[in-house]
Amino acid sequence: MSAAFGQGKPVDYGPDDSAPTEDRPCPLCGHRMGDHAIDHSTPESILVCPTTDRLPERPIDTPLNEFGMPVEPVEDGRTRGM
Ligand SMILES: [Zn+2]
Repeated sequence: MSAAFGQGKPVDYGPDDSAPTEDRPCPLCGHRMGDHAIDHSTPESILVCPTTDRLPERPIDTPLNEFGMPVEPVEDGRTRGM
């Protein structure tokens, strides 16, 4: 008899997760995370970007499905997941 969940394999997180955190791009400004400061002076830590530049926001006119995910248009002009 063997365990029902034996033979488990480690999860493959993909090549992006092998990069050190400080070399990853900031989701707000796009600079290296290592160039950022973190303000721990308040109960909620605040990430301080090295620049006031921000990456362009995602378009908000894209239709969303019931899960809040963008709905991709299909060929006949209707939208999927509606
Ligand atoms: Zn940033």
